[in-house]
Amino acid sequence: MPLRFADHSEEAYRFPLTIGHLLDAALVTSAAQEIVYRDQLRFTYAELRRRIGRLATLLTDLGAEEGMTIGVMDWDSHRYLEAYFAVPMMGAVLQTVNVRLSPAQVAYTLNHASAEILLVHRDFFPLVEAILPSCPKVKAVVAIMDGEAGELPAYAKGEYEALSAAASPDFAFRDFDENALATTFYTTGTTGNPKGVSFTHRQLVLHTLACNAPFGDTRHPGLGVDEVYMPLTPMFHVHAWGIPYVATMLGIKQVYPGRYEPDLILDLRETEGVTFSHCVPTIMQMILAAADARGSDLSGWLMTIGGAALTQSLWREGTRRGMHVVAGYGMSETAPTLALCRRRFGADGSEEADMAALTMAGVPVPLVSIRVVDEAMNDVPADGRSRGEIVTRAPWLTQSYTGDPDSSKALWRGGWLHTQDVATIDAEGYIQIKDRLKDVIKTGGEWICSLTLEDLIAGTDGIAEVAVIGVPDPRWSERPIAIVVPAAGVVPTLEMVNAPLQRAVDAGEISRFALLDRIETVDAMPKTSVGKIDQKALRTRFATGVPAEASGAVADAVA
Ligand code: AMP
Repeated sequence: MPLRFADHSEEAYRFPLTIGHLLDAALVTSAAQEIVYRDQLRFTYAELRRRIGRLATLLTDLGAEEGMTIGVMDWDSHRYLEAYFAVPMMGAVLQTVNVRLSPAQVAYTLNHASAEILLVHRDFFPLVEAILPSCPKVKAVVAIMDGEAGELPAYAKGEYEALSAAASPDFAFRDFDENALATTFYTTGTTGNPKGVSFTHRQLVLHTLACNAPFGDTRHPGLGVDEVYMPLTPMFHVHAWGIPYVATMLGIKQVYPGRYEPDLILDLRETEGVTFSHCVPTIMQMILAAADARGSDLSGWLMTIGGAALTQSLWREGTRRGMHVVAGYGMSETAPTLALCRRRFGADGSEEADMAALTMAGVPVPLVSIRVVDEAMNDVPADGRSRGEIVTRAPWLTQSYTGDPDSSKALWRGGWLHTQDVATIDAEGYIQIKDRLKDVIKTGGEWICSLTLEDLIAGTDGIAEVAVIGVPDPRWSERPIAIVVPAAGVVPTLEMVNAPLQRAVDAGEISRFALLDRIETVDAMPKTSVGKIDQKALRTRFATGVPAEASGAVADAVA
């Protein structure tokens, strides 16, 4: 028998799952609800809708059209929220530009994504000035002065607020196919250039629905309609975990902190009554330290932690101050959310039981299939002990790396997305990340490619062999360290290995986070059976924490 499909009247509205529809109910139920930007600006959802129309008009006036890529380089702001909606709603593709990559990498991502219009915060003017000559496809830049007076750069077509104020709010958005691309951004891979991932309207709408209070879990606070939301993950990174879309769909009050400044974040939390945020562990530590210094009350603040493991000690630190701390798991390729922690059924309600459950990587959110498999794609036993790679299927996973069929094939080997995260899973679906197959190190939420650093250091006089590995760090989650075999008679120093890295930083080739703050010397490198450096053995041997005071570059970058 052939499949049967529902009859539909010619009059029936064929509802596309497009991002604009996330606004439908919110504009009715929450027209007067507020969006707040730092201590500078507040407006209602009704005004948000008008500002979205104005942004679409001003972009069109600058030559934007369906299918075009439009890049944003900004801190977490109401402007970014406007772009999250306006750009996809006009049928264009929003590139959330990772401004923490090196200048050469930022230029690469803009060229690769064919970005033609850029919205740029003044803090990134020097970066844009440096790379514009190598980005010939960019035909218009809108300057974001963020409340400051001053001259616009010569290359800017105008200032965001001024252009917005002059543009009509009545942009005629039209319906289109839900499978149209909505967003793209780049993730730093193990080798070579950053890799582009992209997401359609349908994928982001389904992600938004599934991330909304995923378990209806009445035993733990979640994102309800009376919460006040403030993101503390960059909006350039995986749609700030998709929560701005969730918060807007629900019509809840939203607070955008701009460039992260701990004191301002705490002021906003107090004055605006923020109850729901999410961040990487490094940012949470920064907030705890700032709160302690000024005696701020953090009780009742729900903080979802992801991007790196939530340690039990950080969970305790937050819980001791009255916060609700819970971990989630996902990655750039997965939009990002795959799993979120929840209390175990039948748990005894003790703090120890909560901590054990809420610091894992989580259980799959609705519509996500997760398997933990061996190399032959056989499921390992769901016993909480056997390790394997997490592979997954969900409606919102990137279908390929842009223009990179080989990597895309490897990502999707056997029809399952390979995360390269090694984990255990138990009978109730609780996942615990144990290791990583990818040769990348994640520090303060940013990736560093160990192979690139090894290549750069390898030619240094006095160094016979080098390996770069990530070791756990109490503040940055991980930091890179170099393990070197010195040439005969040489005593290697940190300066020696950092010199070629500093040159690469100065040349804009690698990120400042890559500078090392520790080296270890060995007589010989441990090797695997096939003669490769045994990274796992090195990680086991050197996995002790390094001092929390890391390089100034990193401290500066997350602040
Ligand atoms: P990104 O693509 O930059 O968002 O990084 C995703 C990666 O961060 C994952 O593949 C994991 O390696 C790591 N990660 C994310 N969440 C967690 C978590 N809860 N515990 C441990 N590692 C995590």
